[in-house]
Amino acid sequence: TQFSDLGLDRGLLKALSDEGYSTPTPIQAQAIPPVLEGRDILGIAQTGTGKTAAFALPILHRLAADRRPAPRRGCRVLVLSPTRELATQIGESFKAYGRHLGVSVTVIFGGVKYGGQMRAMAPGVDVLVATPGRLIDHLGEKTVTLQGVETFVLDEADQMLDMGFIVPIRRIVKYLPKARQNLFFSATMPTEIGQLAGELLNPNPVKV
Ligand code: AMP
Repeated sequence: TQFSDLGLDRGLLKALSDEGYSTPTPIQAQAIPPVLEGRDILGIAQTGTGKTAAFALPILHRLAADRRPAPRRGCRVLVLSPTRELATQIGESFKAYGRHLGVSVTVIFGGVKYGGQMRAMAPGVDVLVATPGRLIDHLGEKTVTLQGVETFVLDEADQMLDMGFIVPIRRIVKYLPKARQNLFFSATMPTEIGQLAGELLNPNPVKV
């Protein structure tokens, strides 16, 4: 399989060829078709497998195929990531793959001032990548809303557990619309993570 066989937007194929990628990795070949169809994913995947593009490419395709404004202070796609470094990397990947599509991407994390993040979120963005603690602060201050979220990505769920983020994640999920697409990724599946996946995902997710 080549990326050009997967039915992806031309702008995405151009960005992939800019990056020098022609062949999807196994997780990309497995995940891209069902994500394009709007299905949920339960993915067991380590970093280095091409996991980020496995969710970013079909998400960007769906955004480009159905253009509409995000609500003020809101986003259409929420990606939760455990650390600022990972969140920044994911944001950079969305920007690189989405560069011919005109999608907006914002990354928010703790340890920095709020003002820039508030200004970035004010008009609404297509993709928000966030760490849990700072996102909860913004939700409490109503400087971010999750009411417009169409797709929710939880990345590195087992690392979230190790960092004590399971309770914050459950709080964040309460702000999400009930009808949404969920993409759940973890390197391992301990009991607590399996249980969290069962709570978050729609029935019969595609397992990759
Ligand atoms: P990830 O597992 O998402 O952290 O990606 C691991 C690395 O593989 C990143 O540096 C990506 O830029 C790169 N990568 C992702 N997909 C492909 C692909 N299909 N072909 C070649 N490299 C890729």
